[in-house]
Amino acid sequence: MYAPAGVKTSTEFPVPDTMKAWVLGDPGELTLKGKPVPVPKRAEVLVRIDAAAICATDLEVIYQGPPAMIQGGLPFNKNFTPGHEYMGTVVALGPGVDEYAVGQRVAVEIHAGCGQCKRCREGMYTSCHNYGLNYGDVDKGHRANGFTTDGGFCEYQVNNINTLVAIQDDMSDEEGALVVTAGTAMYALTELGGLVAGESVVVSGAGPIGLMAVAVAKALGAQPVILTEMRDNRLKIGLELGADAVVNIRKEPDVVAAVKKLNGGKGVDYVVECSAASKAVNDAVHMVNRGGKVCLAAFAHEQVPVDVAHIVSNNIYLYGIRGEGKSAVHRAEAFMRQKRFDVSKIHTHTFPLADLPTANRYAKDRVDDAIKVVVKAKLDAAHKVAAE
Ligand SMILES: [Zn+2]
Ligand SMILES: [Zn+2]
Repeated sequence: MYAPAGVKTSTEFPVPDTMKAWVLGDPGELTLKGKPVPVPKRAEVLVRIDAAAICATDLEVIYQGPPAMIQGGLPFNKNFTPGHEYMGTVVALGPGVDEYAVGQRVAVEIHAGCGQCKRCREGMYTSCHNYGLNYGDVDKGHRANGFTTDGGFCEYQVNNINTLVAIQDDMSDEEGALVVTAGTAMYALTELGGLVAGESVVVSGAGPIGLMAVAVAKALGAQPVILTEMRDNRLKIGLELGADAVVNIRKEPDVVAAVKKLNGGKGVDYVVECSAASKAVNDAVHMVNRGGKVCLAAFAHEQVPVDVAHIVSNNIYLYGIRGEGKSAVHRAEAFMRQKRFDVSKIHTHTFPLADLPTANRYAKDRVDDAIKVVVKAKLDAAHKVAAE
């Protein structure tokens, strides 16, 4: 039985010595294996993973490798378990931990950072200067679940207490797994200015982060919130999550003119770019008003030209964000706790953990209009559940 020295457990939540974990072999190759249940160290707890959501970045990691970095390189054939958006129940406490109790349900942030570099000290732990340095002689202890350390496509994982956010019992496991998605959208708006009441926001791209950016911007009091996207079904969800207006860029090819028309002829105060489309950055720069701010939250796949003279002559600010820094997940959870928006609108499918390859295919090929696909270890392996 699991009873490591210095680790507190409870008979109510028995922990086995070994668990099932998906392991990445060659690119795209996942195998379900047995692994030892990890042991929490100082300032860490063991989380029983109750639900894990699939993110487009997981698919990048599984098929291409970056931004995962394991032992200084690509994550392939290193006994690495991906998965970075998950929630669960605390089942063991590392030495000295009294911030959380066994049995508590938690959402989990991805990045713990090293805690000692300049950026970590500033709260920008997703931009840790010691990213991936958690091995060998230069072990800085950096952790980013499913990127530089084992992630959530398994039954148990250790997490630093700084990455945990306690959640209420009325939040479902699926919603809990999506707190970090909302947290990433919150970080974009935090970096753009934090308080956006009464200011105008465009969100480009209605993927999960874009849809959450609409919801969070609205909850922060933005007016108007405009969503641009090419799929009508996604625009409909954007309206349900609080968008005041939407632009289908397939029907309105001059998206800059369409946005300006919706906002009294002027550009907007903020653009959150979540589409990764090549043209989107330059469009964003022309959509903001003078002195406006643009946040780039999507991983683009190619280098794109932008109108630098326009940026300079109009004093436009460009921000790139990685993940969910500055405790943004806590703020997102507070909005969700207050029912300020319904994150379940972006959850479309749940599969058993054992069916991860099928779940990945649904997410990758958007089978059956999939948006957020969740896997659960406890789900009956015989069936998948389509969300309402
Ligand atoms: Zn993600
Ligand atoms: Zn750091």
